[in-house]
Amino acid sequence: MPTLEHIIPYLAQIDTNRWYTNHGPLCAALQEQLARFWGLEYEHVALTTSATSGITLALNAHEVQPGLRCLMPSWTFTASAGAVVAAHLRPHFVDVRADTWCPDPTEMETLAQAPDVGAMLVVVPFGTPIDLAVWDGVSQRTGKPVIIDAAAAFDTLRADGPMPVAHCTTVVSMHATKVFGLGEGGAVLSRDPVLAERVRTLARFGFAGTRAAQLPGINAKISEYTAAVGLAGLDYWPRTRANWQAATALYRQHLPATLLPPGGCGDHWVTSTLNILWPDSATQLADTLAGQGIGSVSWWGTGCHTQPAYATCTRQPLPVTERLGHSALALPFWQDIGTEQVLRICATLTQALDSMDLNTAG
Ligand SMILES: *Cc1c(COP(=O)(O)O)cnc(C)c1O
Repeated sequence: MPTLEHIIPYLAQIDTNRWYTNHGPLCAALQEQLARFWGLEYEHVALTTSATSGITLALNAHEVQPGLRCLMPSWTFTASAGAVVAAHLRPHFVDVRADTWCPDPTEMETLAQAPDVGAMLVVVPFGTPIDLAVWDGVSQRTGKPVIIDAAAAFDTLRADGPMPVAHCTTVVSMHATKVFGLGEGGAVLSRDPVLAERVRTLARFGFAGTRAAQLPGINAKISEYTAAVGLAGLDYWPRTRANWQAATALYRQHLPATLLPPGGCGDHWVTSTLNILWPDSATQLADTLAGQGIGSVSWWGTGCHTQPAYATCTRQPLPVTERLGHSALALPFWQDIGTEQVLRICATLTQALDSMDLNTAG
């Protein structure tokens, strides 16, 4: 996150402007710069308090009838399911493909024919590029909206990046844990300016020019203080990105390649998470690492369908999700992680792999 010295000039602007929230000049400048970053027009971006609120508002903006089902992967962060429920829809969990960590478009399209399916939510797994044009096709043919939860894909979506913004409404997170952070914040991207404006309207109590609520909105605006952090962060984004690339390169150099997930770990894109697929139980590996004083996190746990809040949601068979939940684990990863730290982590992993081989051989 940007430090004090970088943020101060923008805070001084707020003092001069005496404009603190409700789409002030800093917020407008951030929207402008982010739009350009993603290869979009100013009107195509709606800033929100988080990706979670952005997904809910995107579903609302598409006017999906309350009570219908929303097809979505169980293999995602729990926020995706929470956002769907907050939009008064019922999650219906589908499995992901082992090679993309993403639902199979053909299966999704078939399931979407059911009359009680109102929408689909597709997750860009940890920022790994997926083919968005395919999902535009699914949405067109079914006549049902596909929302792209691209929470971790801030960089993947950049103008000259590996996954340009397509037609489907796309939501990005700028939470402090992502590659580019505002602390808390999100953005809904739509090449349809009417749709984007509907999201902005929903995010400001449903107001559209007057004090009469045109839509049943909430308050999901970002303040000028949040925008100040964003503008400061964009000033040196190239350096931040280079840091993420350096951290990724360290792991690519020292990590046993067989442990990397199918999408790799950030090749022409950067992510703030480094997942591995362990050949045995990730929980056991986490214990082994903890024994060496090395932290780890299972970002998506064993899938949304195993969490108490969503255990009663309907679902397809989820064999791949279950396998990933058993074996995926994220390693320590931050912008200025050092060679020594990465070496120690990778040595511990290699040792654990060797002792597993010995056990198998014995
Ligand atoms: C981070 C993340 C979210 C939540 O984003 P917030 O901005 O914290 O609300 C949702 N979905 C996925 C896949 C994420 O990685």
